[in-house]
Amino acid sequence: MVITTPEHSLYAIAVEQFNQAADLIGLEDELRQILSTCKRELTVNFPVEMDDGSIKVFTGYRVHHNLAAGPAKGGIRYHPNVTLDEVKALAMWMTWKCAIMGLPFGGGKGGVRVDPKLLSPGELQNLTRRYTTEISILLGPHQDIPAPDVNTNPQIMAWIMDTYSMHRHGGVSVPAVVTGKPPILGGSAGRLEATGRGVVFAIEEAAKTYGIDLTQARVVIQGFGNAGSTAARLLDELGSRIVAVSDSRGGIYNPNGLDIPAVFAFKQQTGSVIGYPEAERVTNEELLELPCDILIPAALEEQITERNAARIRARLIAEAANGPTTPEADRILFDRGIIVLPDIYANAGGVTVSYFEWVQGLQHFYWTEEEVNSRLRAIMTRAFQAIHATAERYHVQLRTAALALAVQRVAEITRLRGIYP
Ligand code: GLU
Repeated sequence: MVITTPEHSLYAIAVEQFNQAADLIGLEDELRQILSTCKRELTVNFPVEMDDGSIKVFTGYRVHHNLAAGPAKGGIRYHPNVTLDEVKALAMWMTWKCAIMGLPFGGGKGGVRVDPKLLSPGELQNLTRRYTTEISILLGPHQDIPAPDVNTNPQIMAWIMDTYSMHRHGGVSVPAVVTGKPPILGGSAGRLEATGRGVVFAIEEAAKTYGIDLTQARVVIQGFGNAGSTAARLLDELGSRIVAVSDSRGGIYNPNGLDIPAVFAFKQQTGSVIGYPEAERVTNEELLELPCDILIPAALEEQITERNAARIRARLIAEAANGPTTPEADRILFDRGIIVLPDIYANAGGVTVSYFEWVQGLQHFYWTEEEVNSRLRAIMTRAFQAIHATAERYHVQLRTAALALAVQRVAEITRLRGIYP
């Protein structure tokens, strides 16, 4: 049985990927039905008072895809294109991500349909507190633990923690209800950099396995947000040549390599990488097709599609973003021998250190950054080996192998727990 969804959508893509893995492991129909649907989908419409005294109504979502392995875990994004369909796909990917890394969490995701760049700091805080209140029927340190995602950050996590703590705990802080907090409020050392650092650990494993010398590698990065900029900095430190980076306004390219600390300083001063002097300008589409060894999509979903996959000139793609490659593109890349480190593995460093943060918050006992980073590396290495071995054994892409391992694990948990009643 193949589970289908009616219209073309990101959720349909997530289900198509799931079906491929389910076929590979011969998953029974009952579990296909359970695992291809989201357990809960909450939509909230809520008013926010703006600085000029007017009221605007915003729409937000919080979705739980599956809770078999533990409480829901997953970020909250603020973006004008957020839809329920997108949040459902992202929630499903969180289930698989947590399963691959062996974390005791289910998958969830949230989002608000808003362009936060158009809000004042006060409006952003009001929106965050009201959205948190609206979804608080789902939240809790043992129910649902949000984290940062696109356009959200440690300050926003601090407001979420405070709002929840004011409502439920008489104002006494409940650090384990959200991760990605500022360290002074119980955030984990290393959490801010964890997604980008995890991407680089994944690349290091792949480089060893597929014979790529990182000190000679040319790297292209789409997106200079938290994950993309951290990966750029760490790969630069390893001696790789970052030849192009971009943000939502476009990209910059220098075949001899960009001075990454200087690009950072430029972006900090001007708000964009565009206009950085020692580089030529490229569009985000052109950037994806530049010659390089490693391509890191670190922005939004559906960037590598059947339209450009044949022109990608990288040896290795490391998905820092969620869902950047469509299934059609995956097939083209696989046929062309381009290795794809899939999102549910490559960017799982973020949720892994979120797990560390949650554990530290529950115990009120905090680790050093060295402990965090070395535990993260151990988990990333172990997961790579398992995924790579599965891909070799079944002659499938790393994505299908990773999904097969994840689906297998969640299916086994579900069989053991049984169907209630
Ligand atoms: N938003 C990140 C992701 O997509 C992190 C989620 C988390 O830490 O819970 O994996």
